[in-house]
Amino acid sequence: MAATIVVFDFDYTIIDCDSDNLVVDDLGGTALFNELLKSMSWNSAAAKMMRELHLQGRSIDEITQSLRRAPLPRSMIAAIKTAYALGCELKIVSDANMFFIETILKHHELIDCFSEIITNPSYVDEEGKLTISPYHDFATRTHGCGLCPPNLCKGMIIERIRSSALAAEEKKRRLIYVGDGKGDYCPSLKLSERDCLMPRKHFPLWELIYSGSTKALVIKAEIHEWTDAEELERVLLRLIGESVSSDGRCDASRLLPADCKPRRNNMLPSSHDAPSEAPAVPS
Ligand SMILES: [Mg+2]
Ligand SMILES: [Zn+2]
Repeated sequence: MAATIVVFDFDYTIIDCDSDNLVVDDLGGTALFNELLKSMSWNSAAAKMMRELHLQGRSIDEITQSLRRAPLPRSMIAAIKTAYALGCELKIVSDANMFFIETILKHHELIDCFSEIITNPSYVDEEGKLTISPYHDFATRTHGCGLCPPNLCKGMIIERIRSSALAAEEKKRRLIYVGDGKGDYCPSLKLSERDCLMPRKHFPLWELIYSGSTKALVIKAEIHEWTDAEELERVLLRLIGESVSSDGRCDASRLLPADCKPRRNNMLPSSHDAPSEAPAVPS
């Protein structure tokens, strides 16, 4: 069983943009979206935009093509593939929607790296209209968290992931949470001293943590900030390497970018060509 669970936010974390804005801008709906946001929550407006775009004759294929153009840095792909290859369990907890996330992950052949994607459900009907529903059906029952938007409390998801890990008597499992937005603050508060929080520097989560009088005191987890995908790759793989080596299940020389692994592994059996003592962890 994997010693480390890595939970990623999606927008501005795995992809380097907001997927709702990407699709709406690409399909010419920016002005209407901005108008809707004056009187609606973000998620309600985004869901309504999909209905409006369909009425305007925009096809699901155009949405798919737009999503495939979402910026997803090479270092992010390498970080995900390497973390997966090292035996980490990877999950996504996102306020986007399932169609957007699956489309992008499939395009980059990353979907099999994730054991679970927790987000707003969505489906495409026979007419090609994309319908997005809230994760929590707040029309019938609110989730009761004052920090999160009504459709999704990511903190509740983290508590569920943690309690199922504990139920499986995996008390040594460590959680690494990677995110950027305000919606990532509630789950950050649920992390324990053993966990790591990776807020994106100068983004809303980071600002929330470091603003105000309490600063980072309310966060129990170790905090490791990152600026871009290259830094995320370095920091995340270092943290995973620490978990792995303290667990004694694998040595740090395995911590190579995924693309390098086959060649490197082929070299390992030769004692004449042993890797140097220094761990091959990007610093
Ligand atoms: Mg985000
Ligand atoms: Zn919450």
